[in-house]
Amino acid sequence: MSTAVEHDETFKVLIAGGGVAALEAALALRDLAGDRVGIEMLAPSPEFVYRPMAVREPFAYGPAQRYPLADIAREADVTLREEGFAWVDAPARTAHTDAGAALSYDALLLALGARIQTRYPHAHTVDDRHLDDIMHGLLQDVEAGYVTRLAFVVPGRMGWQLPIYELAMMTVARAYEAGSTLSATIVTPEDAPLAIFGIGASQAVAALLRESSIRVITSAYVEVPQWDTVIVNPGDRRLEVDRVVALPELFGPAVRGLPVAEHGFIPIDSHGKVRDVERVYAAGDATDFAIKHGGIAAQQADVAAEAIAALAGVPLQPRPFTPTIYGMLLTGGRPRYLRARITGGHGFSSEISKEPIWAPPRKIAARYLAPFLERLDERCA
Ligand SMILES: Cc1cc2nc3c(=O)[nH]c(=O)nc-3n(C[C@H](O)[C@H](O)[C@H](O)COP(=O)(O)OP(=O)(O)OC[C@H]3O[C@@H](n4cnc5c(N)ncnc54)[C@H](O)[C@@H]3O)c2cc1C
Repeated sequence: MSTAVEHDETFKVLIAGGGVAALEAALALRDLAGDRVGIEMLAPSPEFVYRPMAVREPFAYGPAQRYPLADIAREADVTLREEGFAWVDAPARTAHTDAGAALSYDALLLALGARIQTRYPHAHTVDDRHLDDIMHGLLQDVEAGYVTRLAFVVPGRMGWQLPIYELAMMTVARAYEAGSTLSATIVTPEDAPLAIFGIGASQAVAALLRESSIRVITSAYVEVPQWDTVIVNPGDRRLEVDRVVALPELFGPAVRGLPVAEHGFIPIDSHGKVRDVERVYAAGDATDFAIKHGGIAAQQADVAAEAIAALAGVPLQPRPFTPTIYGMLLTGGRPRYLRARITGGHGFSSEISKEPIWAPPRKIAARYLAPFLERLDERCA
């Protein structure tokens, strides 16, 4: 068992990653542990990209916001190292970078995100790094009336769910504005649209989709043998379409030196600690928690930060992970705000509203990161 350190030592926390989970963990740790902890962040990219807003890029709303990691690191008193994490020697408490450096730590937090993999080669796969390139031509064809039948499909191994619904609704709204005809179908393995947000929210989303004349086929697994064909199973039903837009499958980082769960994800316990490994924690899309979502990544980061702070000697009782999912659904008109507690992979105490039901009402609900970005935005405005 690890024991908490004496108060006068600086406890070295190494965070690998520069996304939601990494930044939320850094801000939480700084708040909880103050200068008891020294925080170093290993991130290969110099920017934090606000990924959820990438869905608006093809609709000419401008690019998703980007924030220089160096600015955030300075404000949170974090030492930034622009290198990738490569592997960990946990018994020696040493992390190795892709540039060959060996970094010792008292606690390591891995927030590496998931790897995107195309499931259907004959579909336009949602990849937020190039979403404008992927969708722009398609939208032009929809506006010009060359594309009139679109399928939006979710593969069996589900990742993030919101973007496929958002892209479908925004595309239909765009077709309507352009005066063109579009028949859109969402095909998903979920048993109801956005089922993770619970029955009440899901039924309201189903009604919204009906209003937009978007057909939804649930509990379905699809194959896309050609650009214009979707096979829906069970039932071997054939949908003839003009194009298919698909979510990717997500895989974990399969970290050398750690146990690996199914599909490469990092297995963690309810405090974010990597199973059977001392002083190594993980949060976000890289972990084996089934729901991949920014707000969930942030809550996992908060839980891990509390556990690490306690290990560093801060007198607190770390709370276990009890997730609530918050989703701001872009519809092409007024957004909807969804919230549900999650238990056993299902949403309950489900809510949906046209008004924000959390503050600040950002796409990624995060205790520390959301207000922090709000302040940065205000300063830059
Ligand atoms: C189009 C789209 C729309 C979405 N909409 C929403 C939404 O509305 N609401 C919501 O809450 N969530 C949404 N999500 C999901 C959300 O963006 C992710 O769940 C969230 O970004 C996960 O955070 P993360 O920190 O785990 O991983 P990421 O955000 O993927 O960050 C991983 C970080 O690790 C870094 N990294 C990678 N490899 C290494 C390495 N070897 N060493 C060090 N660093 C490394 C990366 O550079 C990156 O900075 C959406 C996602 C997409 C793609």
